[in-house]
Amino acid sequence: MTDITLQGLEKRYGETTAVEDVSVEIDDGELLCLLGPSGSGKSTTLRMLAGLETPTEGAIRLDGEDVTDQPAYDRNTSTVFQDWALFPHKTVLENVAFGLKMRDVSKDERRERAQAMLERVQMGGYDDEDPTTLSGGQKQRVALARSLAVNPDVLLLDEPLSNLDKRLREDMQIELREIHDDLEETFVHVTHDQDEAFTLADRIGIMNEGELIQVGDPDEVYENPKNRFIEAFLGDTNFVDATIVQSPGETVAVETELGAELVLPSSGDHGLESGDELTLSLRPEILSIDRGEPGTDATAPADQRAVTDGSTTNAVTGTVANVIYRGSTVRYSVSIDGTSVFAERTDASSGSLSAGDDVTLEWNSEDVLAFRADGTRVPLYNP
Ligand code: ADP
Repeated sequence: MTDITLQGLEKRYGETTAVEDVSVEIDDGELLCLLGPSGSGKSTTLRMLAGLETPTEGAIRLDGEDVTDQPAYDRNTSTVFQDWALFPHKTVLENVAFGLKMRDVSKDERRERAQAMLERVQMGGYDDEDPTTLSGGQKQRVALARSLAVNPDVLLLDEPLSNLDKRLREDMQIELREIHDDLEETFVHVTHDQDEAFTLADRIGIMNEGELIQVGDPDEVYENPKNRFIEAFLGDTNFVDATIVQSPGETVAVETELGAELVLPSSGDHGLESGDELTLSLRPEILSIDRGEPGTDATAPADQRAVTDGSTTNAVTGTVANVIYRGSTVRYSVSIDGTSVFAERTDASSGSLSAGDDVTLEWNSEDVLAFRADGTRVPLYNP
């Protein structure tokens, strides 16, 4: 098992800065996912960890040893790539045993270890197959077995599942997590897929434009995103423009593009003033949607009825513009003073709201997130 330290890591290609000042400590046996949009520097960070790229600045330590200038073959890391890259003229078993052969492991032991690893990835019995005849999922299992057979201290995974279709990808995510838990090795996994990161990770590191913006447990980055980019990237939400009209301390009053003045709770030390512009995030799961005026719809399930504990409730009225059935949930697009806000109900059979219905959206104002014009989060409410 191995812990990893990245310290002030930077990679420039001419004018392009691919990775900028990335620092993080990864624990022994941890599964860290680097998550971010395409071009955010995830692969470059992983390739520096693998020794396939040399950092322009900064340091990489494995178990405290500085490996920044060590070539890939001197590090006990192993990488699984997106395009599985199996050797076409070797059998499945020869593919998996290849790394062991390069490390002068005896023939018998190579066979034994390769077979054990093939069993582990549910490819036992495929020893003599030609890898070109395998399905995408099977090829990726073989590639994984090949990377694990050499018993690396750190397994690096660069979008290994993104060429697989959705169903198989979801199954493989769970399997990969189980393999990780079995082996108790350190994994660093790169993906642009939020669901994949949330399924797999002990911690998620979110990257954008070469920077590692936030590292935390999945629920921490979701509940407490550091900036607006993360809030937008991690899920669907309604962003609502707001201007502060009053900021007396305990509360902040804002005018919004929803035509309503809202009162938000406040910890009082955010330094905001009247006239400052904010973006509020109203996630669909905090919104209750009911027919008619606030609190009057008895058709909604009890847990989705309006919260009515006085000052912490915000409510706006609007008209249902669109109803989209999404299996277990129904999504309503609601037009409020010309702005579109979407809300969801989890029980598809409940309520039966239709386009044209007048509705009220209510939410607990403590559940609203707020961001400054520069995208940074305003800690409005600190329970
Ligand atoms: P991600 O893995 O998040 O998609 P990358 O690490 O592949 O992002 O790329 C980050 C940025 O660095 C991109 O703008 C990309 O074009 C640039 N980049 C990556 N590799 C090279 C290279 N070998 N030469 C020039 N620019 C590169």
